Amino acid sequence: MTARKPRSVSLSASYRAVIDLLVAHGALSRADIARALRLSKPAVSSAVANLIARGAIQEVGVGESAGGRRPILLRLGGAGQVVAGVEIDPKFCRIALTDLDGQVLEMHEAPLRDPREDAVADLVADDLRAQLATRPDAMFLGCGIAVPGLISADGDTVTYATTLAWDRVNLRPLLAARLQAPVVLVNRGKAAALGELWYRGRAPQADLIYIYLGTGVGGGILLNNAVHEGADRAAGEIGHMIVDPRGPLCKCGNHGCLETLISGPAVALRAQAAIKAGRATLLTQWLAGQSLDVLTAKMVADAALAGDPLALEILEQTAGYLGIAVANLVHLLNPQLVVLGGPASRWGNLLLEATQRAVQQRALDVPRRSVRIVLSQAGDVTVTLGAAAMILRQASQLLTAGW
Ligand SMILES: [Zn+2]
Repeated sequence: MTARKPRSVSLSASYRAVIDLLVAHGALSRADIARALRLSKPAVSSAVANLIARGAIQEVGVGESAGGRRPILLRLGGAGQVVAGVEIDPKFCRIALTDLDGQVLEMHEAPLRDPREDAVADLVADDLRAQLATRPDAMFLGCGIAVPGLISADGDTVTYATTLAWDRVNLRPLLAARLQAPVVLVNRGKAAALGELWYRGRAPQADLIYIYLGTGVGGGILLNNAVHEGADRAAGEIGHMIVDPRGPLCKCGNHGCLETLISGPAVALRAQAAIKAGRATLLTQWLAGQSLDVLTAKMVADAALAGDPLALEILEQTAGYLGIAVANLVHLLNPQLVVLGGPASRWGNLLLEATQRAVQQRALDVPRRSVRIVLSQAGDVTVTLGAAAMILRQASQLLTAGW
């Protein structure tokens, strides 16, 4: 291998390259940056000094030594520039502010009382304005907004979101006009996958699949640390993987999609049917004479955690279906990591271990041995962090635009 000469690039291009690299990797030393970008050490030192002076980069301690002096690590951020990450759910809206390194500075949750697009855009814009008003010196770079639905190729429109009853909703321009700032729309499962990667320190994974388990079931696939979009940005619709062709009718028109078998409403329905059939359960006491309609998946999860046999049986069935889907994904993509997240991670190790057992039964030995099936580490911030990461991918352009 011949030694490559350092490249010479314009100052603003080297600023952007340094920022892009830190967005992708988190904390790095000056030597790491010089090596990765094939820039000379003086060029990196000069770009870094300028970026520190502008408040875009900060020194954050020392890294491991490769022989000599331990290097000083740099990362983006501080409170000088902020971005927003937003999660829209049929039941709530979660809004976070992060710095350029994805550190969550603040997060709010508000109930989503009116799911119409103007009301949602108003809710997000009003909440963000209130959060930003407490940081008058911060420069707001933009907002990533995650929605449980399909996003159009131009990124302007939620083409389809069954749980919100949205059909071709132009959310991006609505919100951009209110915020007077760049906005990126992203599918919630994809945002969650990216959020999980960021929460885990952005260390490269040989492919990560995130499965969002809530009122809807979605997913995101990261191949080589990048979101796999597919030809129509529709990759990762794990909720519509057909796992039982004789199963319940899905909103998409098929029968037995994963979502119809393991979503929150599906779990609640299964419990309601068992109680109607006369099964004894803690849930009957908890309902205290109220209608079966008030029964939720959260109550079933709590009953399972309390050892209720019916709830545990429902959990086992649910994990069985999830296990079929995970085994299919393991065969198809041979991933290193499958992350289970969303509200159903409330079932914790009960859900995890039952799913692992189901995958153990069904998946081929070789890909099964290398896959780790885990619960989300990031919890509530997963989706908002991933949505913020979507706008942070443009940080170098947004930051240097006015320089
Ligand atoms: Zn479906």
